Amino acid sequence: MKTMTCKQLGGACDTEFHANTFEEIAEMSKKHGMEMFQNSDFAHLRAMNEMKELMKAPGAMNEWFENRRKEFNALTENE
Ligand SMILES: [Zn+2]
Repeated sequence: MKTMTCKQLGGACDTEFHANTFEEIAEMSKKHGMEMFQNSDFAHLRAMNEMKELMKAPGAMNEWFENRRKEFNALTENE
């Protein structure tokens, strides 16, 4: 298992996600983000807007994901 925080995944808090694959952790972070969005959490709404702006550039989404994936792969496993 590896650990990444909401912040590391483009979010706004220190909530930790634990998963074996990047796909899993990305999915967890997405769900968490949607919950925060439904709760109208200001910090997360702002982070999402920043992300949306960033994603307007062509290829930015893929690049962002690849960079997060590299970070994830570079992490050391924890039990
Ligand atoms: Zn969060």
